[in-house]
Amino acid sequence: MPNRMNIAVTHKEIEEQKYYINELKNRVYGKGLKYHIVTYGCQMNVHDSEKLAGMLTEIGYEEANSQQEADLVLFNTCCVRENAEMRVYGNVGALKAFKQANPNRIIGVCGCMMQQAEVANYIKKTFPFVDLIFGTHNLHRFPILLLQALDSNQTVIEILDSDGKVVEHVPVKRAEGISAWVTVMYGCNNFCSYCIVPYVRGRERSRHPDDILGEIRSLALDGYKEVTLLGQNVNSYGKDLESRILFHQLLRKVNEVEGIERIRFTTSHPKDLSDELIMTMAECDKVCKHIHLPIQAGSNRILKKMNRKYTRESYIELVDKLRRHIPDIALSTDIIVGFPGETEEDFLQTMDIVEEIRYDSAFTFVYSPRRGTAAAKMKDEIGLEEKKHRLARLNELVAKISKEKNQEYLDRNVDVLVEDISKTNKEYLTGRTDTNKIVHFRGSYDLIGKFVTVKITEARAWSLEGKVLDDQGSCS
Ligand code: SF4
Repeated sequence: MPNRMNIAVTHKEIEEQKYYINELKNRVYGKGLKYHIVTYGCQMNVHDSEKLAGMLTEIGYEEANSQQEADLVLFNTCCVRENAEMRVYGNVGALKAFKQANPNRIIGVCGCMMQQAEVANYIKKTFPFVDLIFGTHNLHRFPILLLQALDSNQTVIEILDSDGKVVEHVPVKRAEGISAWVTVMYGCNNFCSYCIVPYVRGRERSRHPDDILGEIRSLALDGYKEVTLLGQNVNSYGKDLESRILFHQLLRKVNEVEGIERIRFTTSHPKDLSDELIMTMAECDKVCKHIHLPIQAGSNRILKKMNRKYTRESYIELVDKLRRHIPDIALSTDIIVGFPGETEEDFLQTMDIVEEIRYDSAFTFVYSPRRGTAAAKMKDEIGLEEKKHRLARLNELVAKISKEKNQEYLDRNVDVLVEDISKTNKEYLTGRTDTNKIVHFRGSYDLIGKFVTVKITEARAWSLEGKVLDDQGSCS
């Protein structure tokens, strides 16, 4: 079996955590106290918030219907993009009167932004009514810090440097449904020049496969049908474990878990997309035929400045290989426009590769410098207006191709795992194909959690619409 090379939390720390949870239970249980968590950023953060909610539920807090009725408000922050950071400052600042109206309320700020000492200090100084500040590496110590905050009239602040710990057995309160996030590794070693993640999430640390598989088996027993394996650089999983089990081998093991019917994973780095992983995706029936493979830019000059460690040619070759082995695979990507030094010619190469690959969807962003990264020191001569103009051109192209790709589904019958009632029309249900296409259709609520076959009747840029087929293959 693989040995653990990463440091797990010690028995003493687990005992300490239990002690504080019990202390808090004595104070909180039965008091009807409520919490509200505001989450910014990626799925890793969403899942971290599920852990915070899990700890709060264990202590005896209930989820509030709104921020206004909460006794504890937590902001789980993200520092990957500037606009998310700005929103955090605005939203925390807006709680001043809320706190003054009832000083017993607890306001906490945690997550990636707090991992940067200067940001944590700024929050402490600018918003002195904030009770609790902590980073990403000590999420599991939340009960201890909360108890300190309840007993103190000063801001409790604890930011740890990356210490390589992999913390297991933190309670999780997942969103209701059939899909669950499962973190398989933390951190990233890649140091893409624009990215803050390696600085705030630390180096790559993989969870032990037994812990991952144990969690997925218990999710299956709880009725979850789909798992999404998470990691900032998920396909590099296992390289830090002493006896290597690599990502494709982990996928094969997850594929064997009874009750789990679909497996997704994100985010993959092109340089770690091995032949073995492609073959595993092709051969494992539960692994969805979709991959999110960030390209970021189409110009080799810019890719080099971004420290992405692949070229446009090697990326195209990789996509060809994926499509050869998994012909109907759907591809999504991330693209940054306006990186320092990006010329019109560089940008046109990004447009060109988008035309050539024909992505099913793309998350597109205007470059904004992140303090402490290598790119933040590069000369950024492109004006915001030009960046926005490039983004608009790119978005138009992405939407056009997405719609064309979706039109290929017209009149086709697709298997859909039904997820929920549509948010915009209660008469509709919503689910996804294994290629990650969102499908809306009329149907009875008892179909939620089941697989149905849907005949696609309408294709839009970002979703499909169709009719459920009955057992005889007729539209119902
Ligand atoms: S691979 Fe690059 S962009 Fe992705 S998290 Fe790591 S450093 Fe950031």
